[in-house]
Amino acid sequence: MQQARDLLKTVFGHDDFRPGQEEIVASVLGGDDVLAIMPTGGGKSLCYQLPALCGDGVTLVVSPLVALMNDQVAQLRQNGVEAGALTSNNDAEENERVFTALDDGSLKLLYMAPERIATSPGLLNRLKINLLAVDEAHCVSQWGHDFRPDYLEIGRLREALGGVQIAAFTATADEETRSEIISKLFSSEPRQFLRGFDRPNLFLAFEPKNNPKRQITEFVAARPDQAGIVYCSSRRKTEDLAEHLRSKGVNALPYHAGLEAERRHTNQRRFSQEDAVVMTATIAFGMGVDKPDVRFVVHADLPKTMESYYQEIGRAGRDGLPADTLCLYGVDDIKLRRRQIDEGDAPDVRKRADHQRLNALLTLAEAALCRRQTLLGYFDEAADPCGHCDLCKNPRQMFDATQASQKALSAMLRTGQIYGLEHLVSVLVGEETDRIKSQKHDQLPTFGVGTEFDKSQWRSLFRQLYAAGYANVSIAQGSWQVCEKARPVLRGEEALKLRFPDKQAERKRTSARSAPIELSNVADQELLKALKVCRTDLARQQNVPAYVIFPDRTLIEMAQHRPGTLSDMVEINGVGAKKLERYGGEFLRVISDH
Ligand code: ADP
Ligand code: ZN
Repeated sequence: MQQARDLLKTVFGHDDFRPGQEEIVASVLGGDDVLAIMPTGGGKSLCYQLPALCGDGVTLVVSPLVALMNDQVAQLRQNGVEAGALTSNNDAEENERVFTALDDGSLKLLYMAPERIATSPGLLNRLKINLLAVDEAHCVSQWGHDFRPDYLEIGRLREALGGVQIAAFTATADEETRSEIISKLFSSEPRQFLRGFDRPNLFLAFEPKNNPKRQITEFVAARPDQAGIVYCSSRRKTEDLAEHLRSKGVNALPYHAGLEAERRHTNQRRFSQEDAVVMTATIAFGMGVDKPDVRFVVHADLPKTMESYYQEIGRAGRDGLPADTLCLYGVDDIKLRRRQIDEGDAPDVRKRADHQRLNALLTLAEAALCRRQTLLGYFDEAADPCGHCDLCKNPRQMFDATQASQKALSAMLRTGQIYGLEHLVSVLVGEETDRIKSQKHDQLPTFGVGTEFDKSQWRSLFRQLYAAGYANVSIAQGSWQVCEKARPVLRGEEALKLRFPDKQAERKRTSARSAPIELSNVADQELLKALKVCRTDLARQQNVPAYVIFPDRTLIEMAQHRPGTLSDMVEINGVGAKKLERYGGEFLRVISDH
């Protein structure tokens, strides 16, 4: 284990393990079969890379995406580790390099996609593979959200290799996925590490949609020097939004699976190579995003489930520095997500589960107390109020919503459960619209009984009723109906507590978004800029993403501590021996010239 700790510093330049890493590395080194569940950005890769460096023989890493593999290989090589990937994108020269390193025994980590493994039994039998590392192991589960049938080959491969040691990693925690991973990958119960799900550096915030384009533009424009992702629910929207943001001077690019391949790759490359690109993307922009210094993730639309929400925001702040998240949501989103689940071709049990996962997310969206507590509670983890979410900053009141809910529900009933939200709200606040007059809804007993709230407050109350399952919205017409669950409330047999809906005007004033983060208290911003220029040049020359040379965090430390010699330089987090040798002199020069 001492060896692993030394390699952590000398190869990767890290002073300490992140929470959970040390136990997992020790267990893998001890020969255990391991299933480790860590949140996105928690630092899974190191948990198999370090053991791979400690032993002789090859660690075979199964990974689902070419982009992901190439990125990891580039990073390892920068640190002086001989690693390679066999992918369909390799040119002859690259294949040559990998096979030579395999033959002379210098290759430590070999990355392959599962499809490729299935077709290369000869090769794999020849190699001395002493650890099988499975990245994104939930892809083996039909229950989960990224099922990849070829992952089922891994179990067979394991057998073929004589039951080689296996270490599997995923960020997906739910019970069903976990037990499916175990049954499909392992021959006996592995040692399990369910690691702290908290990502304390992420600021969590939700906001109801009222003017989404403006809300997003404001948020993004306030963070001009930062890279970020804005997730949208449709391809069309990613392009519209990118264009809109560009018209406001933001360096925004769209990404979705329907873009022609070349443009998609260019945009992805620009996102990882340039500073401060904002990607407006569908969730097709996902697993391959390894950039550690993504400073914010915004959801322009509500994600599919609690799991997808956490995975998507997890792409922010992998470097451990503060990062922001903001999720917008409205009733239309909820309808869309419900419809997608209902119309999908998953079996009924799976649909029910997905509805539950969506409900969990809605509960989080409408939560009144610390979001992190609600979020971690879903992953079975207890937590204190975090002080680092919109609700901790600006706590919401709960109130006895029985009466208000009765009014809202009876507005639905008395108008025949065929009207949409705006009409119902108008009835409650007593607005004499043409439609209300023509339908004689101004003569209903519910007309104008809701003067205690303004319209935006009523909308919030309706959303909460929907989120909590007291009301339903028909997908085709958008009409609101009363659910069975609401009957006792209507009859006055059950009290209902909800979050006190704040007025739109007040919401603006007390907006609980985080202020844009100041990343560094680097006095010398000019020096930091100069270091970044040096990094960009090196990255261009080698055609690798900038963070592969050094992540922001390392440059910030350099600007803060101003190392004067190589031995000062090695104290900086992220500077391992190889990078010291390759780049140390150059960055020292930038610092001393400055
Ligand atoms: P995951 O796969 O769990 O999402 P990664 O393995 O990609 O996370 O690691 C996320 C980031 O954290 C990477 O940029 C990596 O360099 C960094 N990192 C990992 N372990 C450490 C550590 N012990 N100290 C500092 N940075 C670390
Ligand atoms: Zn909180």
